Amino acid sequence: MKRFGSNDAYCFFCGSTAGKDRRLITGPSGNTFICDKCVAICEGILEQQEADLMPIELKDVPTPHEFKEYLDSYVVGQNDAKKTLSVAVYNHYKRMSVSVAQQAADDAVKIEKSNVLLIGPTGSGKTLLARTLAQRLKVPFAIADATTLTEAGYVGEDVENVLLKLINAADGNIEAAQRGIIFIDEIDKIARKSENTSITRDVSGEGVQQALLKIIEGTVASVPPQGGRKHPNQEMLQIDTTNILFILGGAFVGLDKIIEQRVSSHAMGFGSDIGQMSEEDRMNLLNQCTPDDLVKFGIIPELIGRMPITCALKELTRDDLVLVLTEPKNAITKQFQASFSIDNVELIFEQDAINEIADEAIRQKTGARGLRSIVEKMLLDVMFEIPEIKGKKRFTVTKDVVKGKTTNLSELIQELPDAS
Ligand code: ADP
Repeated sequence: MKRFGSNDAYCFFCGSTAGKDRRLITGPSGNTFICDKCVAICEGILEQQEADLMPIELKDVPTPHEFKEYLDSYVVGQNDAKKTLSVAVYNHYKRMSVSVAQQAADDAVKIEKSNVLLIGPTGSGKTLLARTLAQRLKVPFAIADATTLTEAGYVGEDVENVLLKLINAADGNIEAAQRGIIFIDEIDKIARKSENTSITRDVSGEGVQQALLKIIEGTVASVPPQGGRKHPNQEMLQIDTTNILFILGGAFVGLDKIIEQRVSSHAMGFGSDIGQMSEEDRMNLLNQCTPDDLVKFGIIPELIGRMPITCALKELTRDDLVLVLTEPKNAITKQFQASFSIDNVELIFEQDAINEIADEAIRQKTGARGLRSIVEKMLLDVMFEIPEIKGKKRFTVTKDVVKGKTTNLSELIQELPDAS
């Protein structure tokens, strides 16, 4: 360790001595030093913290229309969900700006927060919608999977780890994390198995719902900084979840049947085949979902009470998937084209090829979620070979390439004359 001596001053932060490109500033005691570079770094940190600590002002929150417009450029379809979420998020941050301004007033009407429940099949855009909203608001965002969570004391992740993810997304800034958005997927998978409360504890279901309820309704939670399980004597991070917006999602397979049994009084009853229902009818049913239907499904009433806004997302059709591949700002084909262009390759997708990729995703029943891996797999050999070829090239993806019928992909690599 370097010791301080009269001719041996050094920056107490980075250890550098004074030099051509570094000046040392002496502290008031005369025997402490900091260099100009570290001062500049500290200034940046303080500025960032001040910006993060600023309360959200209503003028900084996009209107529902602006939110919807932003979502439109990243998410295909799902108009109802976009509208519902835009209003919910606007109201959430409006409520926060009011509470900041009027916290002191005892007689102020306290507007309660409204978390949102998104009901929709895998790969329909639930996570994407939540993430895109957070991106527009520039607030920290975290995703959790309800199936990995357990109530404290059981094997698995404690519910508080969800909060740790948000704190990490905020680079450790608790104030910023307290205004963030958390998306919890697969909430339907922690439904309790029967409507009657069981006497034995249901690790996978009700206990987790109870644990989630606490953080969702607003509490000051203690989070172990390294994640994992809580240990006694461990220093904890304290985070207030009152202003964190929770968006919960799940496929809720079978919920449509529960709703149908309620709404059609002369029920088609058992034996009626809901599988034959059109997607539009199913969406109409799901949009009539009441708290009672969710209780029947196995969600505890207290948790339902904390998610007053529910919205259904539709299964994406083949035409939707074609749009997902090509239209959004960061559409998958655009991403691959950008990546290929770094290797001097012009990547072209024929319309037939795009349609075939969408058909393949429909066959795999993965919604839009499967599209990327289909494209990734299909282009693997090309991505392996093409950096070896010097100069400008073009690669055209045809329907046969998607179907794996083209064995010699290098034949499809076209060398182009150099522009220079
Ligand atoms: P979910 O949460 O509903 O299972 P995701 O939002 O995680 O589905 O979707 C997975 C991927 O599929 C996203 O990253 C996105 O690329 C794509 N995707 C899904 N739905 C849409 C949509 N409606 N518009 C554009 N892309 C979508």
